[in-house]
Amino acid sequence: DTVIVHPLITCGFCRACRAGNDMHCANSAFPGISTDGGMAAFLKTTARAVVKLDPSLAPKDIAALADAGLTAYHAVKKAVPVLYPGTKAVVIGAGGLGHIGVQCLKALTPAEVIVVDKSAEALELARGWGADHTVLADGSEVSKVREITEGQGAEVILDFVGEGGALESGIAMLRRAGYYYVIGYGGRLVVPTIDIISTEINFIGNLVGTYNDLVELMALTAQGKVRLHTAVYPLEAALDAIHDLESGRLHGRGILVPAGA
Ligand SMILES: [Zn+2]
Repeated sequence: DTVIVHPLITCGFCRACRAGNDMHCANSAFPGISTDGGMAAFLKTTARAVVKLDPSLAPKDIAALADAGLTAYHAVKKAVPVLYPGTKAVVIGAGGLGHIGVQCLKALTPAEVIVVDKSAEALELARGWGADHTVLADGSEVSKVREITEGQGAEVILDFVGEGGALESGIAMLRRAGYYYVIGYGGRLVVPTIDIISTEINFIGNLVGTYNDLVELMALTAQGKVRLHTAVYPLEAALDAIHDLESGRLHGRGILVPAGA
C-alpha cells in the first residue's frame, strides 16, 4: 500500500492527542523543523502519522496536501458552520494554499467564493478551481469586494497572505460579526479593541491541521473534488525550486521527488 504521512510526530497519550488536536500535542516533533526529515529521501515518524492512500492517488501528485492542503482544509472546515447558504467567503492569495482553499470551500460549503490576488494569472487559475468572483489586488480590492457583498462585507475572510497590506485590506472586507482566519503570516494584526467590540469581529489562528482533517482531505481528493496544481523537481534540484518560488515562476506547489521514488 502507498501512504502519506501527517507532518507532525505526535505522542497519542496527551490530552490534545486524545482530543484529536494533533498539532497541539504536548510531546511533538516536526520533521524538517525541530528534527531531521525535511527535503530528505527518508524521514523517521511513527505509525500514528500514517494515512493509507486510495489506490487512485500517487504520492508525488498529492504530497503537498499533507501540509499546504491540510492547512487550507483545516481553516475551511472551521468556517463551515458560519458559511450557510447565501454567505460569501473571501480568499486572499490564490497561491499554493489558496487554490486548495478555494476548492475546499466549494466542496464543503454553499458559500459564494471571492478570490483576491495581485496576479491576474493566479486569478485566471482560481476561476478554474471554482472561484465565483475574482478581484485583482491593485488598490481597488476593498471597494470591489464591498460592491460584490452589497456594501456589507463578507462573512468569512481566509487570509493566506498575512503580510504586505493583506491584513489591513482584508479586515476592511469583513462583515459585522464576521470571521477572519489568519493562515499566512509575516505581518502584524493591529485592530482597535473598540472595533472588535462594536462590530463583534472574530480573529482565528490556524496551525496546519489534524490527522482526521488529512484523512478527510484524502477522501475529497480521491473523489476528484480537490486537484493540486504542482511543479515537480528532483530532490537534487531543491534550490531551483526555491529560486522559482522567490521569483514568482512557481505557481501552485513545488514537489521534490527523491531519486528512485
Ligand atoms: Zn500528544
